[in-house]
Amino acid sequence: MSAKALPPAPSARFRLPARHRGVLTEDQRELVRAHVELLASRPTAPYAEDAMVLAAHEFAKSVPGISISADRYQNLILKWKGSSRNGRAGRTLAFSAHLDHPGFLWRGTRGGVKTATFHGGVPERWFPGALVRFFDPKTFEECATARVKKTARDREKKIVAELTGFQGRARRGMFGMWDLTPGTVSGTRYRARVCDDLLGASALLSTLELLARERHPEPVVGILTRAEETGFIGCQGLLRSGRRARDWAVIGLECSPKRATARVGEGPVIRVGDAGSVFEPEITHLLQEVAADLRREHADFVHQRALMDGGRCESSAYNLWGVPAGGLCLALGNYHNCAPNGSIAPEYVDWNDHEGLVALMVAAARRWRRGPADGKMRRGLDRIWRAERERLVDSARRIAGGSTRRQAKSR
Ligand SMILES: [Zn+2]
Repeated sequence: MSAKALPPAPSARFRLPARHRGVLTEDQRELVRAHVELLASRPTAPYAEDAMVLAAHEFAKSVPGISISADRYQNLILKWKGSSRNGRAGRTLAFSAHLDHPGFLWRGTRGGVKTATFHGGVPERWFPGALVRFFDPKTFEECATARVKKTARDREKKIVAELTGFQGRARRGMFGMWDLTPGTVSGTRYRARVCDDLLGASALLSTLELLARERHPEPVVGILTRAEETGFIGCQGLLRSGRRARDWAVIGLECSPKRATARVGEGPVIRVGDAGSVFEPEITHLLQEVAADLRREHADFVHQRALMDGGRCESSAYNLWGVPAGGLCLALGNYHNCAPNGSIAPEYVDWNDHEGLVALMVAAARRWRRGPADGKMRRGLDRIWRAERERLVDSARRIAGGSTRRQAKSR
């Protein structure tokens, strides 16, 4: 037994802000809060999502009508079964989020030097001096803390952090996170060691439970993937191993670096694309229609629509494998814990953006049943066509006549 206690972990406070946009009832807000706490209070890292997988199983067990299964890579497929026998023909709506966040995997001690490899996108200059907290892979209890002394690259070009000030006991297979708060709310701002993508994952759980409560007629799928931060590895495994995804239309959920066109606190973002590709137009149209409807019902509901090109996300992978995918995200500050001043810091979002995201997802599921959304935009174009067509025809006649005369003259 290690006699010495670890330095205390930063505290957490998952409390609902008093000020909100009124798009969810108090009851629904509390449900959303509980799911954020369920995931955010547990540790995760790429290839060390064990605690998240367990939490998802606990969730599925607690909500009647929701099933859970895993593929061979332990990506999870949750499913609300739907209460009606005759649902919409065609693809099943699926939400997708990832369970990992950039973090450390313990490497070991050699010649008295303790090291851990880092998995996920954080530039090396943010590392020196930053604190790391390690967790037991079986119990998920914290078991050690250390500070990064310096970094180097291994043969695979992975970052290897040399650790100093190590306290606690090294456990085989332990994994580390930046030693930051699991989650705190102050004002309407939510700060946490992981927003990306435990907020996406918890929004997915909240949405499934709200749909189950209202006995939503259609089946809805929730996909929770692993090891997104190292190149959509879990998602690739799911897509490469076959048929499961063939009948889905996916809405990918992310936290994505804020942009001039997508600000923290100005609503959930309809993500038209990422740094790699643009997303399925039909799904994007549907989300725009749903957001406009929500705005009519709730005067304070706001949303944004933007190309979030600060990173790539799994929606690009789904589309590449022929599974139509759109995207929703939260505008994120301190992406991957990199504060602009060069320090490692909590990521942050606006709590009300998160509530708006869940409202948008539930509304999208309800809307999905009524089929493709391009109707409104097409009807608008039809209207303008009818009004303008005659001018086009008349002027076409003149242009055609003029060009015939000119051709005759020049002969
Ligand atoms: Zn992410």
